[in-house]
Amino acid sequence: MTKKPFIIPVFLPQEGCPHACVFCNQRAATGIRDPSPLEPEGVRAAVEEFSRHRGPGRERAEIAFYGGNFLGLPEERVRALLAAAALCVKEGLADGIRISTRPDTLIPARLDLLSGFPVRCIETGAQSLDDAVLAACGRGHSAADVEKAAAEVKARGMALGIHLMAGLPAETRDSAGASARKTAELRPSFVRIHPTLVLLGSGLEALWRRGEYEALSLAEAVFRVRIMYETLAAAQIPVARMGLFSPEPGSVLAGPEHPAFGHLVMSAVFLEKARALLQSAGVKGGEAAFRVHPRDVSNLRGQANQNLRTLSGDFGLAGVRVIPDPALSPGELALSPA
Ligand code: SF4
Repeated sequence: MTKKPFIIPVFLPQEGCPHACVFCNQRAATGIRDPSPLEPEGVRAAVEEFSRHRGPGRERAEIAFYGGNFLGLPEERVRALLAAAALCVKEGLADGIRISTRPDTLIPARLDLLSGFPVRCIETGAQSLDDAVLAACGRGHSAADVEKAAAEVKARGMALGIHLMAGLPAETRDSAGASARKTAELRPSFVRIHPTLVLLGSGLEALWRRGEYEALSLAEAVFRVRIMYETLAAAQIPVARMGLFSPEPGSVLAGPEHPAFGHLVMSAVFLEKARALLQSAGVKGGEAAFRVHPRDVSNLRGQANQNLRTLSGDFGLAGVRVIPDPALSPGELALSPA
């Protein structure tokens, strides 16, 4: 598996967006309140500033235009920002560029603007592949647009990241699972999954205040994202992130906000794997021992060892041992003979 690049984010909050999607308030999400657009000359300063956080062993770095609809910007601005980033790449400050843009901008006429620039990856917010959910969110594009966009990006040889959300208006457990299945069929390079939060100043805030939107509980959000994760993992699609970058303090009014959301989901994934192994081995009582890749020890244990207590209670176990085993692959779980 290719190593994840070091991402140097350059935020363009809601720039190029045709309208505000119901769940979105990039100013609340990124904390950037200055409404003046970033000048191309500011790209270098942003890159130099953020590169100070680059740790050892992160060889590849990509300048990422995030927070807006990059290919919805005027042509001149697209070229000027890309040229500024490309200069940083040429000078060795980074190795490539990635952009975040809406699926309905991933059409040949807009993608052609990227020609000649070192754009390695495109991230696009599908959010859902259920047209009813997309309409309820005021996205202004359909699931078919996402399918066409994926084909266009892949035909141009760039990596494709698809963002999905859980808990959007009109979404059900079934539609969340179906969105993950359809996304897997598009064979993206990776997927990010975000739980829906009610952000201050978003359209969702108004719906929530009128009682027309109910946020998912943390448990339900973990359930839905687990199903989505398992669907993608079964199709060998990497899930790069589950959860949101820390929003501005005070900007989340409701919803399943948790600082370790991804860990909660992975703990739920491992709890289900462990249950399935114990059930198929007919274990009842005694002790159980599991082997996992060292990276997954805390995923198997769960938050404050909750998974081990749950398994002990459900299967009448006197104890559960967790054995780190580097011979296993990340994500694998094996029941050791007692
Ligand atoms: S979700 Fe994306 S397209 Fe919609 S308003 Fe936010 S940044 Fe713009």
